[in-house]
Amino acid sequence: MSKELILFDIDKTLFDRGSLKQSFGEFYEKVAGKIEQPIDVVNKVRSEYESNLESSSDFHPEELLKYFSESFKIDKNVLDQYFQRRRMYERSLYPEVKGVLNELKNDYELGIFSEGFVDIQLNKLSDSNILEFFSPQYIFIERRKLNDNVISKLPECIIVDDKKEVVDRLKREERITPILIERKDEPKSGDSIRSLTDITDLLGFKN
Ligand SMILES: [Mg+2]
Repeated sequence: MSKELILFDIDKTLFDRGSLKQSFGEFYEKVAGKIEQPIDVVNKVRSEYESNLESSSDFHPEELLKYFSESFKIDKNVLDQYFQRRRMYERSLYPEVKGVLNELKNDYELGIFSEGFVDIQLNKLSDSNILEFFSPQYIFIERRKLNDNVISKLPECIIVDDKKEVVDRLKREERITPILIERKDEPKSGDSIRSLTDITDLLGFKN
């Protein structure tokens, strides 16, 4: 019998957005230092870039860096140095993630069900050294993951996601078992887990 499949959302499921935000904040500070302007000036340009996005998952660091480079007349290579993508992603992984994936990988097939740009999302996984846990054929990264044509591609699986809206939509699919993860700093809306370590209990995982 083939192994059961678990798909993980990326943002706020594997990566702590608060920590990412902090890293971005440090980057904006460095840019402000470089142009010798108050941070508000940088934030204003950042808001300009963000206001042009249709969805927050359309955010693309490369595009932001280009926007900064043009707006502030800074060499893009300098911005790349300030950005330090690898360090940023590695330190924003929730602390239990690697241990849990390592534990689950022997008994389950693991994959991804994420919304956003394929290159950014794959960078996060590879920069933080967790890409190897996921089977390439089960990595689903889509610009709008709740579209019916995307959901119809998903095989029978368990899906862990931090968005209630996603979990509610997936509940309508008989072959999919969604699990809602609500991190400790958020209100608990019912049948959710607080950390990925709770998955092992939920699945009756025996050690
Ligand atoms: Mg998410």
